[in-house]
Amino acid sequence: MQAITILGATGSIGLSTLDVLARHPERYSVYALTAHSKVEELAQLCIRFRPKLAVVGNAEAAAVLAQRLRTAGLTTEVSYGPQALCTAATDAACDTVMAAIVGAAGLAPTLAAARAGKKILLANKEALVMSGQLFMDAIAASGASLLPIDSEHNAIFQCLPPDYGRDLQRHGIRKILLTASGGPFLERAIETLDTVTPEQAVAHPKWSMGRKISVDSATMMNKGLEVIEAHWLFGATSEQIEVVIHPQSVIHSMVSYADGSVLAQLGNPDMRTPIAQALAYPERIDSGVAPIDLIQIGQLSFRQPDMLQFPCLQLAYDALAAGGSAAALMNAANEIAVEAFLERQIGFRRIPQLIAEVLHRLPADAVHNLDDLLEQDRRARELARALLVA
Ligand code: NDP
Ligand code: MG
Repeated sequence: MQAITILGATGSIGLSTLDVLARHPERYSVYALTAHSKVEELAQLCIRFRPKLAVVGNAEAAAVLAQRLRTAGLTTEVSYGPQALCTAATDAACDTVMAAIVGAAGLAPTLAAARAGKKILLANKEALVMSGQLFMDAIAASGASLLPIDSEHNAIFQCLPPDYGRDLQRHGIRKILLTASGGPFLERAIETLDTVTPEQAVAHPKWSMGRKISVDSATMMNKGLEVIEAHWLFGATSEQIEVVIHPQSVIHSMVSYADGSVLAQLGNPDMRTPIAQALAYPERIDSGVAPIDLIQIGQLSFRQPDMLQFPCLQLAYDALAAGGSAAALMNAANEIAVEAFLERQIGFRRIPQLIAEVLHRLPADAVHNLDDLLEQDRRARELARALLVA
């Protein structure tokens, strides 16, 4: 029996995870569920999955949740705030942590899980993009296992040899081919992107996801974050990671070998597949996802991304090359820019401009610990907010 903590249980990934867990009650139990502000949604999940611990964002939300659970006759402990998230992720009674909080807010508990030697199912790519070497060092030191949930990285993981030790050379790996759908604006002329609305940006043609990652997919910052994520997960240099636009989202990524073989993982665009793969690894379990119908799909197509149309992708390659805190600065500026776009404060094309301005004005620093990183994150947010009103 694996006891699971879901950080971000009320989100898109959190709910897909619970859907898979519910199919296998004999294998998995729920140790803790966390949310930020969706108290009623979390209460419903607690009533259904009966965790030992539930965590929300603040004291008022915790009081409301505790009352609600008492009334329902539950003994679930209720707690709140960043420290409580870390407890949920590190308690001895939990084996596996699904890291599915969105953005930098997930960094501290995910890193805590890494230090505590947990099995980590990583959806929260921002946490790894920000902390890079620090995170990988924590994994190595504690002996934690790290399994990618992001569909592309999960696909790559499945196409790599089982004993892969982040050494491409030794395994005859030439390249990682990271596929991208291109998002909702792939076919639009750049000049017309000024007028796109948040509703249009979050309407992803292939995947149903949270609002932040949906905007990231429209700007292709999501793919940029994924290039950096692949660098850390698989030990690949930026030259060894090639982004390939594949609008059908049937192939979730590929690995190209020295002998000319290219291995791919295919499937319907449903996050329950990578979630089930990582939960059960190395076994295979039912995820509720139907197999793809290749005849129905008919054709697959591929093309090169246009860096002029998607400047965020170039910004991410540049941040990776710059090293140090550059990726954390970029991530923070992006989070502020996306929030401002969703609140209709800025236009869509202002997103990459704002990030570029922050990166131009704040030089990347060396990162030695979590405090350094949080300080860099804070500075980038402060500057991005100032530039928003400038
Ligand atoms: P959602 O916005 O749907 O869910 C986010 C979750 O995080 C919610 O449970 C939310 O709580 C919680 N949360 C938000 N802010 C905070 C905070 N400050 N402190 C603590 N908890 C917080 O996001 P997704 O599920 O779409 O994405 C989650 C992560 O997974 C992201 O990093 C994303 O990039 C990654 N990912 C997602 C994919 C997808 O298909 N959705 C695919 C690949 C990766 P509440 O509901 O109470 O606000
Ligand atoms: Mg992805």
